[in-house]
Amino acid sequence: GKEILEPLDYDIESIRSPENPDGYERASATIVALARNEDFDELAKTILSFEKMFNAKFQYPYTFLNDGTFSDNFKKGMQALSKAQMEFVTIPESLWQMPPHIDKKKAKQQMNKLSKSGIKYSKDFSVNNMLRFFSGNFYHVPEMKKYRYYWRIEPKVSFFTELKYDVFKYLQGTGKLYGFSISLYDNPLTVETLWPETMGFLNEGSNFQYVNKKGSFQWLTENQQLPGVNAKANGYSTCHFWSNFEIGDMNFFRGEAYSLWFQHLDTTNKFYYERWGDAPVHSIGLGLFADKSKIHWFRDIGYFHYPYYNCPKAENTRGCLPGQFSESLELQDRNCLQNWIDYSIDNLNKIY
Ligand code: GDP
Ligand code: MN
Repeated sequence: GKEILEPLDYDIESIRSPENPDGYERASATIVALARNEDFDELAKTILSFEKMFNAKFQYPYTFLNDGTFSDNFKKGMQALSKAQMEFVTIPESLWQMPPHIDKKKAKQQMNKLSKSGIKYSKDFSVNNMLRFFSGNFYHVPEMKKYRYYWRIEPKVSFFTELKYDVFKYLQGTGKLYGFSISLYDNPLTVETLWPETMGFLNEGSNFQYVNKKGSFQWLTENQQLPGVNAKANGYSTCHFWSNFEIGDMNFFRGEAYSLWFQHLDTTNKFYYERWGDAPVHSIGLGLFADKSKIHWFRDIGYFHYPYYNCPKAENTRGCLPGQFSESLELQDRNCLQNWIDYSIDNLNKIY
């Protein structure tokens, strides 16, 4: 039969789940979910699945973030789903709101244009606020500053494999900065000038020093698997780690390279004029400034966010089709995981 998949580049036994989670010495880490009160039902389903597959054994604290205020019902209802500590936070306006100097008329025109190509947006710019918040600000929320590591979860996602080791201690022990589950090509219309603006930053002053010589430059710029996308995005393949699932080290994002680059991106106002997403922004930042061996594909975590899966071919996978990426045949070519494997993993057998 099939074996249980787990990373082989670490002594996993040393970070197995404890017999009693109450006295467990946890890493500096939180489970983070951005949500509104109306997301309660869908987020509750996520939490139940997440507790069953991981957190009931470890009881990492949750941090719920909202640009509005969480209702008492939301708080009570969530707390009933887990024994872990929970914090319910209203995001400071300065980290969320559209900066006042943005030309709203121009932003509206641009978003209308994109919506005609089927790109999701909202009239009140909340989608843009959300994407900018995740790109450059979530790790500055005061309640998040207590922590080094985070695992991002969302409403309406499912987990298919029971994890028996502490993923945060795995990252800490290996010095890894970021873990992902699914990677895919983006719609180039949303990131038309993200790459040129990034090159502009790197060519300023001595910023080129920040580029990691062991980074994933080839992966960021490849044009093999989906030719043409790269040209539409002016040099960026658009392949990115899908950010509704992320397990990461916030010190990377808080660091000098990523921070200066994000500030540069932010001054272009293109989170509002082009609708840059946090997934391509995180991915380009990691691809440029992180050693590629510090980025980890969590091959062993079965995960679904409509319409894509990471479904491990392993004994402990329940409820998804092993190896499946999407139920839709038309969407198969959105998968760019193979590029990550080809360009950025030295030896797959060493990892698993
Ligand atoms: P999609 O997966 O790209 O369609 O985006 P989602 O609708 O899932 O939004 C991403 C995450 O941000 C989810 O956790 C949402 O609950 C949350 N979210 C999106 N917009 C807002 C917002 O305006 N306010 C709050 N508080 N949460 C939001
Ligand atoms: Mn979502």
